[in-house]
Amino acid sequence: MNILNEFLKDPQAFLVISGPCAVESEDQLKSVLDSPDAPSALRGGLYKMRTSPDSFQGLREEGAKLIAKLRQEHSFSFVTEISDPRQIETLDPITDMYQIGARNMYNYELLRELSVLGKPVLLKRAFSATIKEWLGSAQYLKDLGEEKIVLCERGIRSFEPELRNTLDLGSVIYLKENTNFKVLVDPSHAMGEAKYVERASLAAMAAGADGVIIESHPNPSLALSDAKQALSLGELSKLKHQLVKLADCLNKTLIH
Ligand code: PEP
Ligand code: MN
Repeated sequence: MNILNEFLKDPQAFLVISGPCAVESEDQLKSVLDSPDAPSALRGGLYKMRTSPDSFQGLREEGAKLIAKLRQEHSFSFVTEISDPRQIETLDPITDMYQIGARNMYNYELLRELSVLGKPVLLKRAFSATIKEWLGSAQYLKDLGEEKIVLCERGIRSFEPELRNTLDLGSVIYLKENTNFKVLVDPSHAMGEAKYVERASLAAMAAGADGVIIESHPNPSLALSDAKQALSLGELSKLKHQLVKLADCLNKTLIH
């Protein structure tokens, strides 16, 4: 069974999706996929939503060809962001789970298009969205079936400038208590610095999250986007080890 389906069906499963912010090169992805702790669920942006148009925008169609090639040589599920329905043609053959980024949570037409494709969707919370607005966006995906809609808390914008965002674990506790959706946490974008990611991930598990999505890179200082928050492959392995220990206490099973 595909690992994402396994996750969607198992209430005790704790999923760790990991990989680079952006797909950058074949060498970069091979280092990740050939590492001893290679992810079964790989993240990687192809169409990057950058604050500045002068920043790296992603490998786009060329990156999709690279993923198609690597899928023949390695076994992994691929999670990637879609920001426009015109990307479906390129992304659908290589994507197992679509990510809706914070900037597109309110893009209702895009959500409508995804609701008929049938693949699971990771719906990130917008920077300043209330839980009610976030759940409103999830309703646009309802034709997928509740079990294929996964919400992702990635930190919200608050008055606090010391961290990239404010990780709202309260939302995780609220959603697990009041809805049936699976909820993931993105500690990388929430905290913005690699050194905080492990503790935030453990806190996410303790708050009842069903998984985390983590940015990692074979050489973080060379990452073309979000370098500060990327874990090295060694740091990622250590984090998984810590999560396994906590999962044991909480009767959860780590899928990674
Ligand atoms: C990402 O996952 O790389 C990303 C851009 O996330 P967000 O939409 O949460 O900012
Ligand atoms: Mn990123």
